[in-house]
Amino acid sequence: MDILGRFGRYVGKSPEEATFYWTGGPVELAERTWFGSAFSGVTAFDTEAGVVLVDSGLKKVAPMLASMIRSRTRAPIHTAIFTQGHVDHAFGLEAFLVEGQAPPQVVGHRAMPARFARYQATEGHNRAINARQFGGTVRDHEAGPNAGGYETFGPPALPPTVLYDRRVDLSVGGLTFEVHHCRGETDDHSFVFCPERSVLCPGDLFIWAMPNAGNPQKVQRYPWEWAAGLRAMAALGARSLAPGHGGPVVDDPERVKQMLLSTAEVLEDIVAQTLAAMNQGSPPHVDIVHAVRLPERDEPWLRNTYDDAEFIIRNVIRYFGGWWSGRPSELKPPPRAALAREIADLAGGAVALAERARALAGSDVRVACSLADHALEAAPEDEAVRAIVAAIYRERSASETGLMAQNLFASAAAYAEEGRPYR
Ligand SMILES: [Zn+2]
Repeated sequence: MDILGRFGRYVGKSPEEATFYWTGGPVELAERTWFGSAFSGVTAFDTEAGVVLVDSGLKKVAPMLASMIRSRTRAPIHTAIFTQGHVDHAFGLEAFLVEGQAPPQVVGHRAMPARFARYQATEGHNRAINARQFGGTVRDHEAGPNAGGYETFGPPALPPTVLYDRRVDLSVGGLTFEVHHCRGETDDHSFVFCPERSVLCPGDLFIWAMPNAGNPQKVQRYPWEWAAGLRAMAALGARSLAPGHGGPVVDDPERVKQMLLSTAEVLEDIVAQTLAAMNQGSPPHVDIVHAVRLPERDEPWLRNTYDDAEFIIRNVIRYFGGWWSGRPSELKPPPRAALAREIADLAGGAVALAERARALAGSDVRVACSLADHALEAAPEDEAVRAIVAAIYRERSASETGLMAQNLFASAAAYAEEGRPYR
């Protein structure tokens, strides 16, 4: 399945319907400034010296994005700014270049090269976790490199030529581009503001969904710095917003401000509650998760459609705490199968344990899944156990609203069917 197929069910017709938004064509944000989105967004500022491009899309869909922009300007790319080193922002630049043009200057945060190096060092791990996150199992990545069409490990063909630390102001063709560092989804994240056109490009600091500040399988996120960055962006007073994912806001400064500030509030609330819970005697992590009251918000840009607010708590705990869960037995735990066999024996066998899990699934799905894990770990070869556990996780996947929770639970079901408890 290619990248477009993978995300098809998350694609909406209006910016408020989906994070993974397709603009049918270029959207004019301001004079000589256009936005296009196909999975992720790009923004082109036409200047007297050439085009300044913010982000470049996935390599596979960059030609589609480039054709949107090229329907409005044929000028060469003078400068490209990557808001982060992720595959959907920093890898599509070649498609935007015009024939015979000089190499563009490429701007990114100082931490970006280390990110590319890390992906190379952990390629097998990243293939597996991306396969799970985006709707498959490890089998998918075993099918071969780039089976999903979205995996790129190592630096892009056109990596940054200009690295900055806290902020750099570029002057190109009569326009100013303020590039600000903000650790948020990643440690190499930037947002870009062009004051003359009053256009703000927040990258993935705004994606029309609960911020991707919790992602269960990925490295540290920084929700408190993210919130500060959202407040700094709101203070700029931009008239138009060109987000990393989802549709743009054009010439509506009040709405831009409301979107940024409400998102900051939610992140600050989760961080404050998590720290307060940690400060109550540093309880086990699971107790902290259940102590935090997640904000209930109606704004369409604060829904758990991609990440999940509950997962953000975990990122805060991880940053301020250690790896130990706080459960005594998990300091030096037994192998999963050894513990699971003992629990299954107590229950009268792995099938009985799985059936108890099935009986609980309708009333307490969290407990049901915990029992189901033990049942599968105790008897991964048992067809009846596999079928029951797979069914529980299929139902749980269907009950979730966020892409990550849906896909990780769907992966759990696929593993159960194969008698492979997540390995
Ligand atoms: Zn992105």
